[in-house]
Amino acid sequence: MSTTKPVLISGAGLASLLLAQSLRLSKIPFKIFERDASFQFRAQGYRLRLSTEGLDAIESVLDAETFQTFWDTCGKTGGAGLATYNAVTGEQISQATSEVLSSRDGKTVGIARGDMRRIFASGCEDHIQWSKQVKGYELTDDGVKAVFADGSKSVEGSVLVAGDGIYSKIAKQLSGGKLKVYDTGARGIHGQARTSAFKALGEGVFMLRDHSRPDGSVFTITNVRAGDMHNPDVEFGWTIGGQPGVINAPNDDYTIVGNQAANIAKELTKNWHPRFKPLFEEMNEREAAFWKITCSTPSGVPEWTNEPRVTVIGDAVHSMTPAGGIGANTAVRDSALLGRLLGEAGGYGPGVTEAYEKEMRVYASEAVHQSYSSATGSFGVFINEETSPTV
Ligand SMILES: Cc1cc2nc3c(=O)[nH]c(=O)nc-3n(C[C@H](O)[C@H](O)[C@H](O)COP(=O)(O)OP(=O)(O)OC[C@H]3O[C@@H](n4cnc5c(N)ncnc54)[C@H](O)[C@@H]3O)c2cc1C
Repeated sequence: MSTTKPVLISGAGLASLLLAQSLRLSKIPFKIFERDASFQFRAQGYRLRLSTEGLDAIESVLDAETFQTFWDTCGKTGGAGLATYNAVTGEQISQATSEVLSSRDGKTVGIARGDMRRIFASGCEDHIQWSKQVKGYELTDDGVKAVFADGSKSVEGSVLVAGDGIYSKIAKQLSGGKLKVYDTGARGIHGQARTSAFKALGEGVFMLRDHSRPDGSVFTITNVRAGDMHNPDVEFGWTIGGQPGVINAPNDDYTIVGNQAANIAKELTKNWHPRFKPLFEEMNEREAAFWKITCSTPSGVPEWTNEPRVTVIGDAVHSMTPAGGIGANTAVRDSALLGRLLGEAGGYGPGVTEAYEKEMRVYASEAVHQSYSSATGSFGVFINEETSPTV
């Protein structure tokens, strides 16, 4: 066992930062390498809905004070859960289903991704090295080093954890290419508008569906929280998703942010019911951003030969479609599990990453499968594991 060499973490996203909190509380040294220059480098985007499992995992890691801050920052939406409407006619298609969304106190609990990241990072900021893009790793006699895109290498660590999202190079190297992320062809735009644009909706979680287009269906999901709905200084977010072929970014560039994305969102929703149109007409155009809907291997997280010194967490090992809203919830379970196992072992120890991967494969495979199945049903994505394109 080595207690002095740090745990190396690639990426400063949600999964990595929660793992870092766990290590900090167990007094295990760690270093995080993040490709971006700062937390503000790119728009932090959307709001995440937290499931019971996700909240439990977060609570099991954070100290009581930090969890309280986290909980106080979360929005709690009442109402009867997800209500689905025909976006064009304004008619309600299905009654609200509270059991699907509520996680605590009968409320739907959500938080902006940026706030979640900021709270998870507290006390860990000094351990983050910015503008460090990891492109792989190199094993040493008694440890591991991260290899950066500029060819330089990190200090020797006891173990390397890849929490660097869907394009993770470590995941590919570790699994010999078995960890794959498929491009479903479906695309989305997320955006936000002042609360006044949502006043005709009332409190609740809303799914708006438009099946009237000849090129494929479009949906929007949004959440109107009672606590903020009359605050003119707050903006609420929404996400639009389209079946493959419906949403196309200019020059196929899905990193575009701002009015080009905003204009496409407005065009897509121009025939929508007056109750819903203000969400798009009154949006804060600067914040509109595209996203690609990706999904890991639907049949489950594949097996690879465990490398005790390297493992993978979060989207890097199990990317999911937005259907079900379980990507981040599954990612934080990884952080809690791996953090606990490393804590119990006092840092790196033989068998730790293997035990983590064994347990993670079970719940993550189930989550990917569930998310893929509902995306197939609700917005027509299809993955052929042999032939579909990967990212
Ligand atoms: C619009 C939208 C809505 C969503 N809504 C929900 C929801 O309601 N509920 C839910 O549970 N999930 C939701 N998700 C999914 C959720 O956002 C992800 O599952 C979650 O962010 C994954 O966390 P992560 O830490 O694994 O990856 P990320 O949060 O993506 O973090 C990865 C980090 O690694 C960094 N990085 C990338 N490459 C490198 C590299 N080579 N070297 C160093 N650093 C690197 C990135 O800059 C980033 O900081 C949603 C996703 C989208 C797009």
